[in-house]
This record gives sequence, structure tokens and C-alpha cells, in this order.
Amino acid sequence: MTVSAQGEVPVLIGGKWTSPAVETYTAVHNPSTGETIARTPMCAASEVDAAVQAAKGAFPSWSNTPAPIRANVMFKYRALVNELLEELAKLVTRENGKTLDEARGDVKRGLEVVELSCGIGHLLKGEVVPQVAEQIDAVTMREPIGVCAGITPFNFPAMVPMWMYPLAIACGNTFVLKPSEKAPLTSTRLAELFMEAGLPEGVLNVVHGGREVVDAICSHPDIAAISFIGSSAVAEHVYTLGSKNGKRVQAGGGAKNVLVVMPDADPEPTLRAIMGSSYGCAGQRCMAGSLLVGVGEAADGLQRRVVEAVDKLKIGNTYDDPSVQLGPVIDEGARDRVRKYIDIGVGEGATLVRDGRTLKMERGFFVGPTLFDNVNPEMKIARDEIFGPVLSMLRPKTLEEAIDWANRSGYGNGATIFTSSGKYARDFARGVHCGMIGVNVGVPAPMALFSFSGWNRSFYGDLHVQGTEGVMFYTRQKLVLSRWDKAYQRQFGW
Ligand code: NAD
Repeated sequence: MTVSAQGEVPVLIGGKWTSPAVETYTAVHNPSTGETIARTPMCAASEVDAAVQAAKGAFPSWSNTPAPIRANVMFKYRALVNELLEELAKLVTRENGKTLDEARGDVKRGLEVVELSCGIGHLLKGEVVPQVAEQIDAVTMREPIGVCAGITPFNFPAMVPMWMYPLAIACGNTFVLKPSEKAPLTSTRLAELFMEAGLPEGVLNVVHGGREVVDAICSHPDIAAISFIGSSAVAEHVYTLGSKNGKRVQAGGGAKNVLVVMPDADPEPTLRAIMGSSYGCAGQRCMAGSLLVGVGEAADGLQRRVVEAVDKLKIGNTYDDPSVQLGPVIDEGARDRVRKYIDIGVGEGATLVRDGRTLKMERGFFVGPTLFDNVNPEMKIARDEIFGPVLSMLRPKTLEEAIDWANRSGYGNGATIFTSSGKYARDFARGVHCGMIGVNVGVPAPMALFSFSGWNRSFYGDLHVQGTEGVMFYTRQKLVLSRWDKAYQRQFGW
């Protein structure tokens, strides 16, 4: 691992790992204990520029490298990440606090994008129409766009960066990654492994920092495209500033996802899915179910079952104990914010059934699993993204009312219905204004073959990450019209 003896997280520029001279650092914690495990240098615009120049320098050669040879690097990278999956998962748990099982999922979902990228030759295929006009053939091809940048959040230290750089690089681009300053260690290790897999110097670069670095990325004249994932306010800022500076931008934001339970849903699997969706990753997922909508007579039994399951959750240090089911949130600020939202819910008159503020732990950044009932869709706790283990229950009388309530938050990532009725499922899927719908699936996050398709305030841009849209985002189309009829078969030179 390339972190220095002083715990400084290095930058990667032009294939060299170095510690930049900076004035400020952000502490990286093990959220289970609160101890500082590393410090992230808060770089300046000059480090962004150095990384961009390295990426720009590597672009001509990398973009001209045949696609199957680029794919070979991806195959080796896939093998390495797969081989070291346990080490990477442990690192995710250490810097993020999610359980080891969830951390394995974090790495595996990212790896899916590497696997997708192994087939880059197929993904880049264009179209041909021979004889599109008299003696003229038309061919389209997709070409890389140049230096791309990625800015990522703390909550998926492996998966979200891997949504971006593997596909961008497989397409022939070069890349500058800026991981979350709160969880940069997994990205550092993943970049190191990519170099080990044979990636040429300068193709992937890593810088660190906060707003100054992000704004430098959004304004840099040599960056062609930006992929951003984080909260909606920052997503909107990156989208606006990046677009204003002529860049392609795809920017995923926050969410408020509903889980609708119909009276005909099968209780046991539904409950398991709800618990995983709502309290998994301590609620710090952009696809976390945070509004539990018990329709009609489903509500009473649903509340009773969720309470029983919440009371059985094993809470604790995820890094030392793999059997823990609910870990900490990322830091003190997150813990205080979530607790404040519980205060707000109480103030708004929601019924507090389980109160996470009462959990006492000796160390770490913990909030206990929290359940509100009798929440109405106008309350702040029903509209804002809380991003912690807080589930709010609503009790509409009908599916129509549930769909109306689901559409009020203004976000649009995921929405799930639990039912055994095809009609309910169909009405829900058609009526909900979200990009990813689950039918009896608690977290309807798509496999890498499909794009991660947030709507509304959950996404700013046109082309989403992963899948075909991801390939389109990282490439641009060229059309070649060729004419080879007799007039152009010259016999003699000039
Ligand atoms: P965040 O917005 O605080 O940070 C994301 C990135 O933006 C980080 O790299 C950070 O350094 C940078 N940043 C933070 N504040 C900034 C500012 N003022 N100006 C410029 N850059 C800034 O998000 P987070 O707390 O790290 O992550 C959690 C959020 O990410 C949640 O809202 C979650 O829903 C969202 N998320 C969305 C998706 C999705 O696909 N839509 C996936 C994962 C997480």
C-alpha cells in the first residue's frame, strides 16, 4: 500500500506516486472506532493541472492502442481485483464502516464494470450502410473524447470510482480521479492494481481534495468530460460549472427511495428485502429504502415485523467483527446530522417507534436503527435525504395514493413495490417518476450491462454511468462517407 509512514495518502500523476506539499489535510477515520487511519492531502489547482497534463500526454498513444490490447489490460485488472477481493473489502470496511459482506458487494459491483469493459471491442462497434447513396458507403465509429475526470462520494469507495475510470479508459480515454477525501484508500489501492495490470503511465491519475480541486476540474480547458456522483447540491454545481465550461457532464445526486408494501406481498422475503434496503450500509446508499409505504391493511403487520427485526440487529464494530449487521455512519458530522433529523421528525409530529439517538457506544460514529410511523409526505423527514439508518413509515389507503406520495420528494433514483399482483406491479412501474424500479427487489440497482438511471434531482445530465449510455458518454460518434467508384481509381499521379 502506497500510503506513507505518516499516513499521507499519495497522489498518482504520470505513473508516479508522490506526497504533494499541501497546507491542509482531511482525516480519514475508521468509523467503527473513530481513530484516524490516514490523512488526505487537500490539493490545489496546480495538482489538478499536473494530473491533466499527464493524462493529456498519455492520450495519443493510449487512444491509438488497439481495443483488444486495451481489453487485455482490463482482463488482467479483473483477475487482480478478483484475487485481492478480500483485502479490498477489508479496506472498504476500514475506511467506510460498512459490514464486510456489504464491502464485498461494493467491490464486486465495481468489478462488473471492469468485466463490461473487457468486451470493449464489441461495445465500440459502429454501424455500416453500404450503398447509402450511389457508390457511397456510410460507416459510423465511436472515438474516445480525451481526458475525462471522475469525482466520487464516500459511500461506495470501490464501486462508484469503478463505475467511471474502467469504462472511460477501455474506450481509449485517459483519466483523472478525485475520490472522496473521507474514503480515498480503496481508490488508491485500486489505482495501484491497475498500474500493476499493465496500464501505461499517465492513463490513470489520482488527485485529492475538496471544492477547490473540484472547481479546478470543472474549469480546466483540457478536460473533456466529468463524471460526478455525490449529493444533489454538489451534483448540480458540478453540472452547471462543467457544462458552462463546455464539458460533457453526468452527475448523480441524492435520493429518497420508497418501498411500497401491498397487502398481498409475501411477508418473510419482503421483510428481509426491507431490512437490507433500509438499514444496510447504515442507510448510506443512494438506493436505500427510506420511505416504507404500508398500503391499507398491510401497515399494522408491517410495522410489527420491522420492529421485531430492528430489535434483533447486531450493531457494532464492522472492522473487527464480520457478524455485525449494522455499522457506523461515516463521521461525527454525519452522526450529528442524522440525530438532528430524528429531532426534526419528532418536532413534526411523526411517531418515533425506535430511537437511534439512545444508542450508546464507547467509540465510533454510531446512530441506532430508527423507525418513524405515521409520517406524512409533506414532512421534512419524508422529503429530505437523511442518509442514515432512519426509516419513515407512511400509511396510504390505496396504491394510487402511494404512487402520488412517492412522486413528491423530487428525487428519482429507486422505487420498489412488494406484491403478488402483476397489475399492481405494472401500475406502480408506470406511475412512479423514478429511473430504477424494483418489483419484489429491495435495491433495484442495475447490473453493469445497464445504466444507473436516476431521474429528477437524482441526476443531472443526459447519459448515465455504466452500460451502453456509459460507452456513449465516454465516446463521440464519427461518420465516414466513402466513395470508391471509377472516377476515383486514378491511373496516374499528379
Ligand atoms: P458529497 O456531495 O459531499 O461529496 C461528493 C464529492 O464532491 C466528494 O468527492 C467531495 O470532495 C466533493 N464535494 C463535496 N462538497 C463539495 C463542494 N461544496 N463543492 C465541490 N465539491 C464538493 O457526497 P458524499 O457525502 O461524499 O456522498 C453521499 C451522497 O452521494 C448522498 O447524497 C448519496 O445519495 C449520493 N450518492 C449518489 C449516487 C447516485 O448514483 N446517484 C451514488 C452514491 C452516492
